[in-house]
Amino acid sequence: MGKTRAGRFALRGQRTALLHLETMTQAVDSADSVDPRALEALNRYFGYDSFRPGQSGIVSAILTGHDVLGVMPTGAGKSICYQIPAAILPGVAIVISPLISLMRDQVDALNDVGLPAAFINTTQTPDEQDLVFAQALSGQIKLLYVAPERLETERFRNFAVRVPISLVAVDEAHCVSQWGQDFRSSYLGIGEFIAGLPTRPTVAAFTATATERVRRDIVSILGLHTPSITVTGFDRPNLYFDVISMPRKDKASWVASYIASHPDESGIVYCATRKETEALAESLNSAVAELRAAGGADVSDIGTIAVAYHGGMSADAREKAQRDFVTDRVPVVVATNAFGMGIDKSNVRFVIHHNMPESIEAYYQEAGRAGRDGEPSRCTLLWNESDIVTRRRLLDSDYENERLTPEEQEAVRASKRRLLDAMVGYCRTTDCLHAYMTRYFGETAGAAAKTDGKCVGGCANCEHTFETIDVTDIARAISRCVHDVNQHVGSGKIVKVLRGSKAQDLSYLNPESLPSFGMLDEVPEARIRDVLSQMATDGFLTIAEGRLPIVGFGPRAAETVAPEFHYDIKKIKRADARARRTPDVSTPAVGSYVPDDGDEALFQKLRALRLDIARELGKPPYIVFSDKTLRDMVRVKPITDDQFLAVNGVGESKLKQYGERFLAAIREDSGDEA
Ligand code: ADP
Repeated sequence: MGKTRAGRFALRGQRTALLHLETMTQAVDSADSVDPRALEALNRYFGYDSFRPGQSGIVSAILTGHDVLGVMPTGAGKSICYQIPAAILPGVAIVISPLISLMRDQVDALNDVGLPAAFINTTQTPDEQDLVFAQALSGQIKLLYVAPERLETERFRNFAVRVPISLVAVDEAHCVSQWGQDFRSSYLGIGEFIAGLPTRPTVAAFTATATERVRRDIVSILGLHTPSITVTGFDRPNLYFDVISMPRKDKASWVASYIASHPDESGIVYCATRKETEALAESLNSAVAELRAAGGADVSDIGTIAVAYHGGMSADAREKAQRDFVTDRVPVVVATNAFGMGIDKSNVRFVIHHNMPESIEAYYQEAGRAGRDGEPSRCTLLWNESDIVTRRRLLDSDYENERLTPEEQEAVRASKRRLLDAMVGYCRTTDCLHAYMTRYFGETAGAAAKTDGKCVGGCANCEHTFETIDVTDIARAISRCVHDVNQHVGSGKIVKVLRGSKAQDLSYLNPESLPSFGMLDEVPEARIRDVLSQMATDGFLTIAEGRLPIVGFGPRAAETVAPEFHYDIKKIKRADARARRTPDVSTPAVGSYVPDDGDEALFQKLRALRLDIARELGKPPYIVFSDKTLRDMVRVKPITDDQFLAVNGVGESKLKQYGERFLAAIREDSGDEA
């Protein structure tokens, strides 16, 4: 990244990062020798045999007192990077996490693996808080979760200066940067809090946001001391990516039939507005009920299919929606982007975007909530041209930040426009979607592994073939029309003129006098729009970035009148045209794992047992065991304690708590077969 205009000002008063990140960035785990204590703790508590890429280097750095910045995609396993050192080092680790609503699950999960953890937050009475402080001071707690706002309180500061702190871990560290999506001003106080401690603890920051500027902000605003920076690969090979362009009116029924055909799966549907989440949740519930009545869906044991979640709901309603989702009472949550930051639910099998997000970063974060357990999961993006127009408009009208001068605001806007352009590029590309994403995050092409020309995780673009459509005449007509209206109108009107519309709002143009009027009256509107947007991307046209998306000529406009001009668009060729409206349900959700029938029955049985146990304990099922662990259990079919411990994700504490019941269920199952 060079010195862009926007780059010259960061938050005022903030000292500039003089650090050259490139030189500090470590090759991931190149020749790290794994600390034996770390491996032992990984196995004992979490039941895992080995570290994932990036983890052991970070753990070793923290154990030797070095600050770290871990940049890893969602689901890569950032938490373990600070939880293992916290388990090993003397004293308590303070974990700063943005959302108090999620702390309970994080803390439950740690206690469940035998690592004493607690949180301090506003849901507790002062007495409850005192109890936690006392436990921490007497060394009974290894990890203490707090929201950043907490650090500013007198009581917490008094406590913090008295307790030995092994480590300060900052989760979702990109919240310090206003260049990221989720700037939170309370994150700005973290550096000062650390500086106020009697002895400076090691500081470890984690984020899934990979842009260089955000990274630089994290290092300087948190005041990390020559941190070792680990950036792991951004590809998520267990995710299948799909992009489908579809008219708005078809989206809800597409989502409904997807959900009806995946009745056992948990998923998130992201919408752009609060109103939309409620409307969609409601229509999903009734659509799925209809399908069920028609015998078309095996969802008989589920009452509500979907709940809405957005920032405008009361705290109680949000809390309930989240609980219902996390505890698998309701399989689907329909949410705005307020949902899910830091959410730990590991068995989310699909994430559907009902509208195009504002950036690849946002998309990657949200879609990345699928498949954290490493099991195959699907990420589908539904979009259409008007999503782009809406996003552009929001961007130009919405953004207000009092601390910025108008000039700075414009620079921020320009940078957001670039983010949006990359998102649009993702929707339109015919290239591998995994490759597009990893390239965006600065990895060299090929970072997304491929076999036989297809990407490993799978994506719609690698799976389907494309047809090339000659749209030379359409492109010429569009160009002619832009000329006819003197580059003065928006894309909607251009389409109307070309289609020979009699609409009132055109009358001021006296359209019938224009040579291009009705030139494309036989061509579907969507096709004209597609060609027009692609022409803008390719430099034949420009679409003004103001409130009104006025179409003008781009630098290559003249080429369209040359006799040799030729223009194609590529369209994905799905098995049949209906696939655009209804999801392809014949193929399994995602490819790689196809269990045999007996194994699938055992998996379902263990899942039911997990749900029973979770309800007895009042915990989310995934905290008992992840889907991945259950799958591994089905593979191993343990009948002794030692075999049970060998299952991926079973540590000592889990064996003690749940071993007997799961072993009994597995024994019974193999007995059935004999
Ligand atoms: P992140 O915070 O990066 O989104 P998490 O820390 O929630 O990811 O980890 C995602 C999942 O991967 C969790 O279920 C976690 O238990 C699992 N996991 C983490 N590290 C390992 C490992 N070394 N081996 C196997 N599973 C792991």
